[in-house]
Amino acid sequence: MSTMNSPTETAGADALRQPVRARMADGRELLYFFDHPGQHEDFVPPADLRELPERPSPARLRRDPLTGEWVSFAAHRQGRTHLPPADECPLCPSGPERSTEVAAAQYDVVVFENRFPSFGPGQQEQQRSEAMGETYPAEGRCEVIAFGADHGDSFADLDVPRARTVVDAWAQRTAELSALPGVEQVFAFENRGAQIGVTLHHPHGQIYSYPYVTPRTLTQLDQAQRHREETGRNLMQDVLDFEVAAGTRIVERTEYFTVFVPFAARMPVEVHVVPNRHVADLAGLTARERSDLADVYLRLLRGVDALYATPTPYIAAWFQAPVRHPAAGELRLHLQLTSPRRAEEKLKYLAGSEAAMGAFIADVTPETTAARLRAALATPTGASA
Ligand SMILES: [Zn+2]
Repeated sequence: MSTMNSPTETAGADALRQPVRARMADGRELLYFFDHPGQHEDFVPPADLRELPERPSPARLRRDPLTGEWVSFAAHRQGRTHLPPADECPLCPSGPERSTEVAAAQYDVVVFENRFPSFGPGQQEQQRSEAMGETYPAEGRCEVIAFGADHGDSFADLDVPRARTVVDAWAQRTAELSALPGVEQVFAFENRGAQIGVTLHHPHGQIYSYPYVTPRTLTQLDQAQRHREETGRNLMQDVLDFEVAAGTRIVERTEYFTVFVPFAARMPVEVHVVPNRHVADLAGLTARERSDLADVYLRLLRGVDALYATPTPYIAAWFQAPVRHPAAGELRLHLQLTSPRRAEEKLKYLAGSEAAMGAFIADVTPETTAARLRAALATPTGASA
């Protein structure tokens, strides 16, 4: 692997929090992260005694010759759990009557390999040709991260120490997954709300390790590379300086992070969270930055939930520098949080222009969204009802 963006293993206060490791009945890895170090030392993970079918073979990758983009065909995902009732939730802790994906009776944060992965199981270096008609195993790894044992919570309901545990788990996973053979990019994300295709209500996110660099990341790398050649400067730093100077779209700025609605936001709600210094990924954040991020992120989610009378569906997407792309050093870690909600009862649907052409037509100005979010963040009871 390259040294440009190797996983950060720092000593002392900035060291990444390590999990307690266990295996599930079908061999998948399950990791327990705790809010307090003392819990970690006393915890012995219970065995998973379920009878589980063998893991599926990996999906297949095909390349679209018109765009050069890879598509993963994961037929086994058709059988996955879809909005189960709470008493069949696979992410709740196990109890005397029921065994779930998490064998423990209680947990803080768990990460485990997805039973119905889009990428994996298996990771190895792969040579793929651009010849038409070829297919390849869609290797990589897909993980589920549960933010807590309480089925009824959402991320915005978590307390600050728990949010920090989640940030630490994301950082530890980014470091470890980036070091796996064949993994090109690690993507942590959360889909919240049945309106945007969530299949489980239990508060959780996902971590994808792709065997290629994703299309939107390639576009960003291309822009950043051109900007460097033309100006000698880093693109995201210039974006940040531009937004801070303009001021009208800034939602919040702390010592370590800036939260803003981007100048050309494509979605009715779109917020970016960018570290004030150049850092490639979550694994590269210092302990102080991770603490601040937990704070900033919780406030943002509560603000988003305060925009309307009911919780707003969102996609929270962590853009991280790819593992070994030649221009990876130009890409700065950032969050893009988007929601299609454009009014109390209205969602923006990606129709012809957006879905077919990737050409967005927006109906809310970014300055308006930023002003609404600033007001929502200032509301002390911003938590979702
Ligand atoms: Zn649950």
